[in-house]
Amino acid sequence: MAPTPRAPRAPRTTHQVAVIGAGIAGMAAATEAARCGLKTALFDDGLLGGLITNVGAVHGHPGAEGTTGADLVNTMLGEVLEAGVDYQPGTVTTLTAANDHWSLPGNSVTTRRVILATGADLRTLGVPGEEALAGRGVSQCAFCDGGLYKGKDVAVVGGGDGAFQEALHLAELCANVTMILRGKKPRARPVFVRQAADLANMHFRWNTEVQEIIGNDGVDAVRLEDSGGAEETLAIAAVFPFIGLAPRTALVNAGKDDMGALTVDAELQTDQPGLYAIGAARAGYGGQIAHAIADGKTAAQAAWRSI
Ligand SMILES: Cc1cc2nc3c(=O)[nH]c(=O)nc-3n(C[C@H](O)[C@H](O)[C@H](O)COP(=O)(O)OP(=O)(O)OC[C@H]3O[C@@H](n4cnc5c(N)ncnc54)[C@H](O)[C@@H]3O)c2cc1C
Repeated sequence: MAPTPRAPRAPRTTHQVAVIGAGIAGMAAATEAARCGLKTALFDDGLLGGLITNVGAVHGHPGAEGTTGADLVNTMLGEVLEAGVDYQPGTVTTLTAANDHWSLPGNSVTTRRVILATGADLRTLGVPGEEALAGRGVSQCAFCDGGLYKGKDVAVVGGGDGAFQEALHLAELCANVTMILRGKKPRARPVFVRQAADLANMHFRWNTEVQEIIGNDGVDAVRLEDSGGAEETLAIAAVFPFIGLAPRTALVNAGKDDMGALTVDAELQTDQPGLYAIGAARAGYGGQIAHAIADGKTAAQAAWRSI
């Protein structure tokens, strides 16, 4: 009699959960997974803490109101380590699935479940002068670089919460801050808009887009055009673009929306079994720290229940 074929045996895994990305969402997920008793690895490619790290004053998060993003990241990292997470600095470059496990060959890890928390990059304007003057007057961190432009005139591009928060910080240091907004209404929450409107050194250009950033050794001006075609050259020493996020999801081949964010079900699982996506990497993300933390906990608990 011919022997009955055996089902392929799942390989011995090094971990039960691997979390890729140690921003707010990834740190929350890793801590929760470890607290659920799962052997958990957490990877980050260098900028531990992600987008919030460079924020000067965090808003809307109980217990951390007004503290720096870096302080919040430190607190959360303490929780990650205390929970027993195996934190490994390094970029995850490949992720492959087979037979109810995942492998991260470049990181010598095999795991039952993966939680993708790779977040997003800040979008750039894509106009002439932006790349050439990056770090010499073009900045995406008001908290890091604002002090360089103390007493000078600067511009912030964008109309969301992040743009307004960064502009409010710059208004404390700079002579004048001009906000350049593509629409006629800001997307930011009224609390930030009201604060900005009340400041005498804050100015607004509505229905306006940046066409060019002008300068040689540093930024001298931006060339603007409004929706009616009128042009203006605004003399400034620095420009800070905060025009939204581009999800970092190239690592995985799963369903995505037209912005590149991973689509997920109610448990934050992608269309690849065992692969979850959370925080700014996923479609429908709420946009705030509280949402990132909730995502992390939801995915970690779903992974735990599924093993
Ligand atoms: C200017 C600004 C101000 C803000 N202020 C507030 C605020 O006051 N209150 C609030 O609630 N929210 C605020 N937010 C929003 C908040 O910062 C984000 O929603 C949140 O930080 C997103 O977290 P995340 O973990 O999803 O992603 P990210 O913060 O992007 O973290 C992703 C991490 O993954 C890492 N990574 C990516 N790819 C890989 C890879 N292949 N291998 C290893 N690691 C990888 C990245 O380096 C990064 O560390 C602000 C955002 C901005 C831009």
